[in-house]
Amino acid sequence: MLIDFHVHLAGSGCAQSGIILGKSFEKRPTFRYLKYSQKISNEQMLTDIDLIWIKRISDLIKNSGCISRAAVLCFDSVYLENGEQKLELSQLYVPNSWGFFAAQKFSESFLLGASIHPYRKDFLNELEKCIENNVFLLKWLPSVMGIDPENKKCLAFYDSLRAAKIPLLSHVDREFTFAEPVSGWLKFNHLKKLKTALDMGVTVIAAHAGTPSQIELAEEYARKYENFYLDTSGLFNPTRVRSAIRLFRLAQKSVLKERLLFGTDWPVPAFPLLLIDKTGIALYKEISKIANPFLRDLRVKEFFGFNIDEFKKNQERLLTLLDRSHTEEVLT
Ligand SMILES: [Zn+2]
Repeated sequence: MLIDFHVHLAGSGCAQSGIILGKSFEKRPTFRYLKYSQKISNEQMLTDIDLIWIKRISDLIKNSGCISRAAVLCFDSVYLENGEQKLELSQLYVPNSWGFFAAQKFSESFLLGASIHPYRKDFLNELEKCIENNVFLLKWLPSVMGIDPENKKCLAFYDSLRAAKIPLLSHVDREFTFAEPVSGWLKFNHLKKLKTALDMGVTVIAAHAGTPSQIELAEEYARKYENFYLDTSGLFNPTRVRSAIRLFRLAQKSVLKERLLFGTDWPVPAFPLLLIDKTGIALYKEISKIANPFLRDLRVKEFFGFNIDEFKKNQERLLTLLDRSHTEEVLT
């Protein structure tokens, strides 16, 4: 039983999903590339892409043969410090209600990755709803949502997460898919800002494992905090691929080895060609022939010394820390 800790829900808002696709994101090259690479037609954007999307994830997980679940991630909107919601600053809003629906519809292949902005006045209410819906983890993208993880408004939120033993998956370091909606927000992604949550005993998963520039700090935190994990999502694109090689090397000789979790960042594309100087042509060809993108990602990581058993071991260590080894039984 292997979990992909990082898979994105998305859509256009058709099918009464409640998803809002911001006009500014629709204009970005990253959006256009994703639409093109996922072969999404203009008609589907108007009719049923939101449903096609979740079915596509479920099908890929099922036919992978070795990945049993994907944590599918919602994306809360921007809120200001005074608790005011700012939908006009949100580039993509995927409400938890859509995550509840998806996780129920494909309960055999999904785990709920909810998203709650900690500045929300009703955060506790929303968290309770997520708990009722079996939330697996909570996802933040601080620079895009406008969250300063060191802001004192987060403290009550951290208390609740620790009490409920829900891990916080937070994006770390630079961000390439979305724009910075307000200048200065990029600094919210710095790993050091998660120290408060770690000190308070929240289990934190750093998305993208501190690549491209915070790997050393990630290693330091892994040594210091047993409640610190890292996902290996989104590593094989031009922005992170060289640092990914460094990450896997460092992990082989440090405590990071015990903390890396499997994650793809689907639908963010991976380009194994960028690694051809390491893999060699024969393996590159083998990898290119793998049709399922989740399995392709896994094969590249195997080459760098992290096979499915390593990831499963780390995942089980995390689930045990969260008192959820029973999840393992449920999921097997
Ligand atoms: Zn992501």
